[in-house]
Amino acid sequence: MVRPSASAEPDSAAPKATPPVTQSPERQTVALPHGLAIGGDGFMVVAGPCAVESEEQLLTTARAVRDAGAGALRGGAFKPRTSPRSFQGLGELALRYLEEAGDETGLPVVTEVMDPRQVDLVADHSAMLQIGSRNMQNAPLLREAGRTGMPILLKRGAAATIDELLAAVDYIVETGNENIVLCERGLRSFDPSTRYTLDLAAVPVLRTRTPLPVFVDPSHGTGHRHLVVPLALAALAVGADGLLIEVHPDPARALSDGPQALTPADFSALMDEIRRWIPPSGRYLSTAGQIAAS
Ligand code: PEP
Ligand code: MN
Repeated sequence: MVRPSASAEPDSAAPKATPPVTQSPERQTVALPHGLAIGGDGFMVVAGPCAVESEEQLLTTARAVRDAGAGALRGGAFKPRTSPRSFQGLGELALRYLEEAGDETGLPVVTEVMDPRQVDLVADHSAMLQIGSRNMQNAPLLREAGRTGMPILLKRGAAATIDELLAAVDYIVETGNENIVLCERGLRSFDPSTRYTLDLAAVPVLRTRTPLPVFVDPSHGTGHRHLVVPLALAALAVGADGLLIEVHPDPARALSDGPQALTPADFSALMDEIRRWIPPSGRYLSTAGQIAAS
């Protein structure tokens, strides 16, 4: 059971109780189609392009990530871009491509919903709704997404505290939906060496505050392809329940986030590394169509 976060109205004068390091609330799992689940001892990698650009681009990527061991397919249909002049996504057409690719590969589809009015449309074509960092505190969207009862991947805002992330969780939980996976994706900081500063400490911190599974997104969190693999492995080491990874068949031509996209070959190499470190972490890799204990 997810209980409302204790510090909805933080009292700055009151000393904050620091939970003992060993304290860890009971763990909750979130079920996806095909018998897949996020959380528990499973580790799941959700991978795919930043944005769906064409049927072929998506299918090529979906097959590659499935073959390499992904557990679900990501891909943006409605893209939250900083500039209105940047590619905004293919919208409903992309949702149809995502559904087709999911059906063909057996991968559950995770895609972002940005507008409460589009929740039903996006829900009709996907298995899990993503709420992006820019919308973490969009209460009407949190409520509308929550009401579907579907699994929700809630990304932490780039300037959001853990308390604020857990307060956003409360909006969804109030609708009666506890199928929530949190995702650390990097914080706005002062150093342009990386796109954001990936707060890996958020994973063990969240462990002491919520039973919900926690993902890490090293693609947006670093912004650079060569940093994705080391931070992905670090996320596994700090106990994350899974990863969100951007993959593109031709990153140089990607319409969004090319510099952080792995090629299918890079992704396959990442999955080999993950398989190497899964046994010492006491986990198993949760893959589409099978549970690989390798
Ligand atoms: C994404 O995952 O597609 C995305 C836009 O990420 P974020 O909301 O973390 O910027
Ligand atoms: Mn992206």
